[in-house]
Amino acid sequence: MIQLQLKVEPIPIVEPLVVRLRTSLPDTSAAASDHDARIVSHDAETADFDVNGFSLRVHTRHAESLDGDVVLIVPGRGTLHRLIRASSNHNTLLITEQCDQKCIMCSQPPKKYHTDMFDQFLQAVVLAPMEATIGLSGGEPFLHKARLLEFLRKAQTARPDIRFHILTNGQHFEPSDEADLKSLNMASILWGIPIYAANPSIHDLIVAKGGAFEILARNLAFLGKAGAVLELRTVVLNSNITELEELANHVTRHLSFSHVWAIMQLENIGYARMNWDAEFCDTSREFDSIATAVDLAVGRGLRTKLYNFPLCTVPPAYREYCTLSISDWKQKFLSTCDDCRLRSSCTGFFEWYPDKRGFSGIGSQ
Ligand code: SF4
Repeated sequence: MIQLQLKVEPIPIVEPLVVRLRTSLPDTSAAASDHDARIVSHDAETADFDVNGFSLRVHTRHAESLDGDVVLIVPGRGTLHRLIRASSNHNTLLITEQCDQKCIMCSQPPKKYHTDMFDQFLQAVVLAPMEATIGLSGGEPFLHKARLLEFLRKAQTARPDIRFHILTNGQHFEPSDEADLKSLNMASILWGIPIYAANPSIHDLIVAKGGAFEILARNLAFLGKAGAVLELRTVVLNSNITELEELANHVTRHLSFSHVWAIMQLENIGYARMNWDAEFCDTSREFDSIATAVDLAVGRGLRTKLYNFPLCTVPPAYREYCTLSISDWKQKFLSTCDDCRLRSSCTGFFEWYPDKRGFSGIGSQ
C-alpha cells in the first residue's frame, strides 16, 4: 500500500506547516514557491530537505517519488502527511470527521471533534500540480459551510485550473446559499451526493437519520438549479439491492439533470466492516438488479457508472460501465489477478477487501 504518512525528525515549528517537496529541478508546470523544500542530501533510508533554513529529515527509501508532493507537518509530531501526491490522481483532503448521518456502511465513522485546517488546505491547493483534481470529503464537509465556501472561493481565485470533487450528504443547503454557490466556478466542481433508495424510509434507515431523504430531494433540486454538476452515488447493499430498479426510475424521472449516476460496491472498512456479513451483496452472483438499473438509466440517457466492481464480477456486456475508481493508495490485486489479461483496465480491490468473505465469482480472464 502507498504510504500517506512518513516518519520525520520533528522540526521547530509552532504552527502546522505546508510545504512542497522538491527532489529535482523545478519544471515549468509549477512555479517555484517560498513553500518549496529542496532536497539537500539522501541515502538509502532518509532524505534531508531544506525548509526555510531548517533541516527536515524524512524517512524514505524512495526520495525521488516525493518530488512535487505537498505535505503537512504538525508541530511536535514525528510524521508528515502527504496531502497531495504529485504523481497521483487520487488526492483527497479530509475536511472534517464530524457528520450528522451515521450510514450503516460509512467508511469514515464520525468523530465528535473538528480541527479547522482550511488555511493549510488552501496552501496545499496553491502548491498543487497544474490542473489537478482534488477531493474534499469527510465526515460532512458542509457542517462547516461558511469556512468551506470561503476556502473554495479563495482556492478558485488562486488556482482556477484546479478541479474539485466534493463528497457531501446534501443535507446542509438553504435557498440563501444560492448566491454563494453561483459565485463559484460551478463547472469545475463535481458534487458527489449519495442516494440509496427512492423509498424515503429505506434511504433514511441506511443513513440513520429520520427525514434525510426529504431534505436530500429538496437540496438536489436546489443544487441542480444552482448549476451544480452532480454525481449521484448509490452503494449497493443487501438493504437496497431490491430497490435499485425503483431508484433508477426515480433518478431518471426526477434527477435527470445529474451528470452521472455511480452505482458502487461496498468498501470493507469503518461501519461497513462491522456490517459486512449483513450488507455485502455478492453481485458476482446477483447482478440482475444492477443490470436492470443500468439498462433503465442508460436507456433514458443518464450517464451511469459502476465503481469498485472488479471486472470479472461483472457480466461482459456491463464491463464498459466499470471505472478505475479505487484510489491507488488503497488498491490491491489478488494472486488470481497475476495472469489476468484485464488487469490493467480493472479497478481491483480495496486493500482491506476480505477475500474469504467477498465475491464468489472472481476468476482470471
Ligand atoms: S481476475 Fe483480478 S484483474 Fe482480472 S478481472 Fe478479476 S479482479 Fe480484475
